[in-house]
Amino acid sequence: MKCLVTGGAGYVGSHVVISLLDAGHDVVILDNLSTGHIAAIPEGVRFWNVDLEDAQATYDAVARENWDVVFHFAALSSVGHSISEPFHYLRHNTMNSLNLIEACTFHNVRRFVFSSTAALFGDESDLPQITDDALVNPTSPYGDSKFFIERALLWADRIYGMRSACLRYFNAAGADPRGRLGEDHRPETHLIPLAIDTALGVRPCLKIFGNNYDTRDGTCIRDYIHVTDLADAHIRVIDQLDERSVSYNLGNGLGFTNLEVIQSVERVSGQKVSWEWAPPRSGDPAILVADSSRMRSETGWNPKYHSIDAIVETALQWRKRHPHGYDDYNSRSVLPELWS
Ligand code: UDP
Repeated sequence: MKCLVTGGAGYVGSHVVISLLDAGHDVVILDNLSTGHIAAIPEGVRFWNVDLEDAQATYDAVARENWDVVFHFAALSSVGHSISEPFHYLRHNTMNSLNLIEACTFHNVRRFVFSSTAALFGDESDLPQITDDALVNPTSPYGDSKFFIERALLWADRIYGMRSACLRYFNAAGADPRGRLGEDHRPETHLIPLAIDTALGVRPCLKIFGNNYDTRDGTCIRDYIHVTDLADAHIRVIDQLDERSVSYNLGNGLGFTNLEVIQSVERVSGQKVSWEWAPPRSGDPAILVADSSRMRSETGWNPKYHSIDAIVETALQWRKRHPHGYDDYNSRSVLPELWS
């Protein structure tokens, strides 16, 4: 299939790109490199340096070829940052996505896969797991920006017949098991890579946000899902789009507290992680654990990485080999394809 991948130089996007290539698909990456890394673009893959904020350039990009599927990852994605810059997040994520979605409907794209989030859900601590039809109640502008885009996709289906899959990721973690890609956010805000860097002595002390949540040890509980399992879900969902639009929660169904994650990093690395308490981070629900049974039964998706240690292991291996992240990659001559 011919696939256009926005945000294909970012963390989840790049892992999906590599899985698409492994499965023999034809990929073009569209990215403005604001947070993605040129070094995450595999050799030989076509790359268009386009900013979705530029509606005309987005239209032109979508118009250039006939896409079997468009995957949309490009977005600002930090819950905490979205609380300090709410309008920036809301504007950026919604406007840029509307430019893309409108271009796709205009150019008759039939299948669209959207990188959505568990941040759509608020505090559901009274439920063991969050089902696909749980109440949407975002606790951050980031979550709301993603929900708006899901709504826009609903109208793109009803009015233009563009089928979409909204994949609501719980906590993406880990790295390509073959060591080709990893996680490198700047600044890094995610628990697992921060804990790994602390274990490796690259960072002095980790702050744990909040010790008074209603959980087994007072810290937040999250459902960590390996990024390669997420990538596999993106490919499996394509077939669903022949018939209808879908939305699925993607997680392992297992919750780990922040302190349990630290213990896992200590076990896997054999190093202590020094940490201290810090006030809760606003926008953080106490518990987010997925019920992904519908995704499993309807698509045959079966995540391979269940244990938190196995997920941490892949992240640790990549980081050990690349202590400066993508800066450690040999400089390669991936140049954006220029349009005449
Ligand atoms: N967290 C933390 N210290 C950090 C980063 C994250 O205590 O330096 C906590 C955060 O408050 C949340 C959990 O770790 O409870 C997972 O946060 P992360 O940012 O990794 O993912 P999110 O759940 O926000 O997508």
